[in-house]
Amino acid sequence: LIQLAIPLNFIGFVYREIRQGLTDIEHMFDLLDIQAEVVDRPDAKELDIGHGAIAFKDVHFAYDAARPILKGISFEVPAGKTVAVVGPSGAGKSTLSRLLYRFYDVQRGSITVDGQDVGDVTQKSLRAAIGMVPQDTVLFNDTIAYNIRYGRMAASDSEVEAAAEAAQIADFIRGLPEGYRAMVGERGLKLSGGEKQRVAIARTILKAPPILILDEATSALDTKTEQEIQAALDVVSRNRTTLVIAHRLSTVINADEIIVLKDGVIAERGTHGELIDRDGLYASMWSRQREATQAEEQLKRVRERD
Ligand code: ATP
Repeated sequence: LIQLAIPLNFIGFVYREIRQGLTDIEHMFDLLDIQAEVVDRPDAKELDIGHGAIAFKDVHFAYDAARPILKGISFEVPAGKTVAVVGPSGAGKSTLSRLLYRFYDVQRGSITVDGQDVGDVTQKSLRAAIGMVPQDTVLFNDTIAYNIRYGRMAASDSEVEAAAEAAQIADFIRGLPEGYRAMVGERGLKLSGGEKQRVAIARTILKAPPILILDEATSALDTKTEQEIQAALDVVSRNRTTLVIAHRLSTVINADEIIVLKDGVIAERGTHGELIDRDGLYASMWSRQREATQAEEQLKRVRERD
């Protein structure tokens, strides 16, 4: 009974933490770490971080042995450059970011940061070098200032405000009756997906990591929000090694390289222009998405007219 009670207790604890919105992805992983799925090697060294060049070499991965997700993926994100990963839903795009952050270990091949295998360094030093803007940021039940400052607890008020400015969320905060002291989270003000993502970007600007992983929200955003988020991302990804897991193709146009993932392999790769000229999978995803956006905008215009 005791054997059963301990894991049940643990699950209950994690569940409550999530329910209360008291956690974010990194904190949650710290909690899940207790189960020690991924552990530091006894001889693990601190990551010696430079400009954060990333290399995936022949990476194979499956959550469940019967269903391989990644079947030999190789690509590089040179220091300071941006690589975007696109592909159909379920292709394994987010899985790439989870492996880089070492939520899981690869089953074959390697992932290196500045030439060091992510499996050979301490998780703490690896994660300190990476800023993660997840699809859905869970906010703490605290002030909006605290939620931004979480990126670097020692940051001053003016640094928090400068980060909010750069992340295009400052105007929104100024418009709140309590400004930076407004309570957010489950028990406070509920923010929209786009607002939460900008809070996460402000956090990351304060953390100032050499590597950035951006997992875009799947949900459609209105054009204005999308432009604000894009402007915020341009600030945060400048001179940083950036891996974008892209769901909306509009954000990938300026990427140095686009990787098209399908059925566990890289189906196509190149810049936006090269892939459009190629007239393959990317070009068809692009035209489909453009048609969908145009149809949506037309529908909006009709609704506004009526
Ligand atoms: P989307 O565009 O829909 O977000 P994606 O390309 O990012 O999809 P992943 O989240 O990487 O896809 O998932 C790839 C596959 O792995 C999916 O089929 C998914 O169901 C499966 N998967 C994801 N996480 C787990 C998990 N923790 N355990 C088992 N299977 C999982």
